[in-house]
Amino acid sequence: MLFPYKLVTAVFYTGLSLLFFTACQSVSTSNENNCHFANVKFETDFSTGRLDRCQQLSDTRFLLTLRPENRPINDSAWYAFKLVTQSPQEVEIVMEVEGGKHRYLPKVSRDGEIWSLKEYKLRSQQLKMHFAATDQPIWVAGQEIIDNQDYLEWGEALMAQGKANHEQLGLSTEQRPIMKLEASTDKEGKEWLLVLGRQHPPELTGAMALFPFSEVLLSNTQLAKEFRERFNIVIIPNLNPDGVEVGNWRHNANGVDLNRDWGKFKQAETRVVASYLERLIASGDKIHFAVDFHSTRKDIFYTMPSDYGLQNPQMVEHWLDELDNQYTGFKVIQQPGNNPDIGVFKQYIADKYGVHAITYEMGDNTNRRFIDNLAINAANSLMQTMLASKPVE
Ligand SMILES: [Zn+2]
Repeated sequence: MLFPYKLVTAVFYTGLSLLFFTACQSVSTSNENNCHFANVKFETDFSTGRLDRCQQLSDTRFLLTLRPENRPINDSAWYAFKLVTQSPQEVEIVMEVEGGKHRYLPKVSRDGEIWSLKEYKLRSQQLKMHFAATDQPIWVAGQEIIDNQDYLEWGEALMAQGKANHEQLGLSTEQRPIMKLEASTDKEGKEWLLVLGRQHPPELTGAMALFPFSEVLLSNTQLAKEFRERFNIVIIPNLNPDGVEVGNWRHNANGVDLNRDWGKFKQAETRVVASYLERLIASGDKIHFAVDFHSTRKDIFYTMPSDYGLQNPQMVEHWLDELDNQYTGFKVIQQPGNNPDIGVFKQYIADKYGVHAITYEMGDNTNRRFIDNLAINAANSLMQTMLASKPVE
């Protein structure tokens, strides 16, 4: 009886290793996602790293192709790679988006931390860059890189400063931690401000705004202390860690747009937040307001209409008008909208809890110092506005 069993296992393992061998062969002989050439390597083996196809056109010219995780999807072609050469040489890169358009203008860095704009030419959706490469790697990406580790370190630093509790809220589809920062007191029936970020992985300018915005809320100014007397704060800065990790254009590991899943809750990421909010309500607390950070082509605040029947109906309009009054050369654009049943976060909060929520959108190319400045002023104005608002019933 032993023999047939042994035979079966032997055949099985031989079959398996053959399969494995064939798979390796097909990868090494194909250009698909093989970005290592004799004289030039395009490395993507780091968090957020992404290139979908690399082809060598000549000694110095390379065609890089960007392809989304799945379709349909909007054109937010993310790329992040390290250009590595053994010795100094010229490298010409032509970058194409398969079936789509470029969104992100190239940035370069020597260390992955400090970035600058890279010169490029864009013609007929071919983005061309020239590099005089040395033996030092050059990071190239669609925006400055903020990866999962950066969020963890930021949260840990705030926790170490005693500003918030940094804890795991739940797990993503691929079991990565979804973290929350909470500044709360045990008083009963408190009202919560919810801050959400990174539903869409390549929307880095929204991510950049979330940090200073949150830090102002958690600061020790008189206003912030007074604010936290009345309100609890929860910040969920990185809702899509799986998408961030592999440089997805928009979706989570299941190929789903999380900002079309609210109310449907087919995805682990949205469910984690929804059940957390349910627990707050069950304990007698209230949701007062929510801000969701994104990026698009311009700076704009998508709001719920003031006549939508929400509590404190004018609150958001007052807040953003107040913010607008602080600038002479910049207009704070408010765009109220009501899109029921498509699964957008702000709509879900409004419909479920009867309170306002907004989508805070920063332009892809907005000046980075201005992103900070606006976020700081927005957080301060919001605290004043919320302190003047009626308690949520
Ligand atoms: Zn977005």
